[in-house]
Amino acid sequence: MNFRAFVFDLDGTLVDSRIDFDSMKAELRLSQEADVLEYVERLEPIASQKAFDIIYRHELAGAKTSRRIQGALEFVESAKAAGTPCAIFTRNTRSITCECLREHGFDIDVVVAREDAPPKPKPDGLLKIAKNFGVHSSEILFIGDYIYDLQAGLAAGTPTALFLPSPPDFDVTGAHFTFETYQQLKDRIFPERKA
Ligand SMILES: [Mg+2]
Repeated sequence: MNFRAFVFDLDGTLVDSRIDFDSMKAELRLSQEADVLEYVERLEPIASQKAFDIIYRHELAGAKTSRRIQGALEFVESAKAAGTPCAIFTRNTRSITCECLREHGFDIDVVVAREDAPPKPKPDGLLKIAKNFGVHSSEILFIGDYIYDLQAGLAAGTPTALFLPSPPDFDVTGAHFTFETYQQLKDRIFPERKA
């Protein structure tokens, strides 16, 4: 399996950012099922700014207590050592994403955050990254942990692998493959380095 680039989701894929989505949604007076960004997009400018302030506060708190997911850094380092560029496609903000990557020592070439492209499940961010790397979207492996990642990957024609350390609560049909640990991903992508 030779991919020309790897794109990662951030939260739940490279780091566990511990964003308290339940209390964020409660503060926004949203149901637990609601899509936060979709909701904010429909608000008038002042209300939207207030909502973004609430979201930002929760994301910042999450970033500060974030933990690196086991094996994620080693996988990115293996990819870079193999000469394969790496990107992030996240619904998080650019500043929090970059802070998080720096904090945990991830060497990422391109970050497409909330400010840079329509949010997942829209595929635009993946297409943007493909263009940036000068590769076709089908030559990338997108690695995420949620239905929006899978939907964005399918819409972009990008093979999508799902990191599922516990059983998913969504339909994974269409995923290129799923994995439970980064060791499994590493064995699959870089089998020659299998110990
Ligand atoms: Mg995620």
